[in-house]
Amino acid sequence: MQLIIHRGTQEIGGTCVEITTDQTRILLDFGMPLVDARKEPFDSKTLVGKFVDSLKKSKILPDIKGLYNTEEISIDAILISHSHMDHYGLLSYVHNDIPVYMSQGAQELIEVSSIFTPNKIGKINSRIINPKKTFNIGDIKITPYLVDHSAFDALAFLIEADGKRIFYSGDFRAHGRKSILFKRIIKNPPKDIDCLLMEGSMLGRENRKYKDEISVQQGMEDTLKAADNVTFLFVSSQNIDRLVSAYKACLKTNSTFVIDIYTAYILDTLRKVSEHIPQFNWRNIRVKFYKNQADALVEKVSTKLLYHYNTKKIELSEINKNKSKFLMLARDNSIFPRILNGIENSEGAKIIYSMWNGYLTDEFKEYCAKKGLSIEDVHTSGHATVEDLQAFAKALKPRYLVPIHTFEAQRYPGLFKNVKLLKDGEVFTLI
Ligand SMILES: [Zn+2]
Repeated sequence: MQLIIHRGTQEIGGTCVEITTDQTRILLDFGMPLVDARKEPFDSKTLVGKFVDSLKKSKILPDIKGLYNTEEISIDAILISHSHMDHYGLLSYVHNDIPVYMSQGAQELIEVSSIFTPNKIGKINSRIINPKKTFNIGDIKITPYLVDHSAFDALAFLIEADGKRIFYSGDFRAHGRKSILFKRIIKNPPKDIDCLLMEGSMLGRENRKYKDEISVQQGMEDTLKAADNVTFLFVSSQNIDRLVSAYKACLKTNSTFVIDIYTAYILDTLRKVSEHIPQFNWRNIRVKFYKNQADALVEKVSTKLLYHYNTKKIELSEINKNKSKFLMLARDNSIFPRILNGIENSEGAKIIYSMWNGYLTDEFKEYCAKKGLSIEDVHTSGHATVEDLQAFAKALKPRYLVPIHTFEAQRYPGLFKNVKLLKDGEVFTLI
């Protein structure tokens, strides 16, 4: 069995791994890069209007034979670990006939993104993975493992062929609402792993005011308890763990969580996967309507749903009457001024910033200072800490541990045993 990391040995984002036997070729993830060649943030606008050949030349698309919509297929399948753009975002360039395997949660969220966001990947030949079942692609056997990550329904994969076993961690952590999944793998790890491909996003980012999702919930509760104005929440609506934390904080403080149509639709869609996800019509949840979201829902999904969400619609007048009792989801820096304009006397209001603070621009901070809003950073990472990575590596005891999805691969040998450093595009044959 051969392994090539096309992208990911030196960077976070744009992950793509190829695994090959004599008969079968599969890819693990096919993500959009997060950084360019100079390690500056990758601007996805550079893709606009460009085709496969020119994107291959500029190395944005890896040179993989039989993958793209311009050639004859020789890739048998693509496995997507989870619904973050840096793991699936280049799928629009692959040949439509190649089966793309993913969890049901990932499939639903990728579809929602294509309705409401600019992240559209078009038509793909998607297949749902049953997380409890091993399956085969040619002579490669695949066992999915559900993992704890900020993307809902995220998977790791055990890949077996030619008598060898590779474990691909995907992105994972041990401190979310599904930490039990991490504990389960540590307690009963897959045996005889020849090669572990393990993410290391947190190396170089160790900054932990909130150590887990439960302390994030507590932080939100504290802010809501002390509120004397509206509290705004900046969060990704696809980060279901975080929405649950916010909702629970609202229940504890008898506050109302004001979501938007996009979020209501995400929660509604994921009901197919889990009954435990809060819904727009649960107590202490209301829906604020924004025209662009209402239009997108009517045009691309159904008018009926809009009427359905209308039963829990909230107007600004109601929020203005009792401001300290509301947690308003805001999310996007660019539309926030419009939301804020609707709130009377908003000076002194707080923003709970519950996303990676790399997104928090100086421009936005200045805007908030000018408006008299204070920002509280209440966040915990979607990725495992160094200690948890060490526990994971120790449990799996791989013959080779290959760093992936990290800017700090050179630190692995000091932290883990049996490290094998690869370069992007290097062929590694497991014998
Ligand atoms: Zn991720």
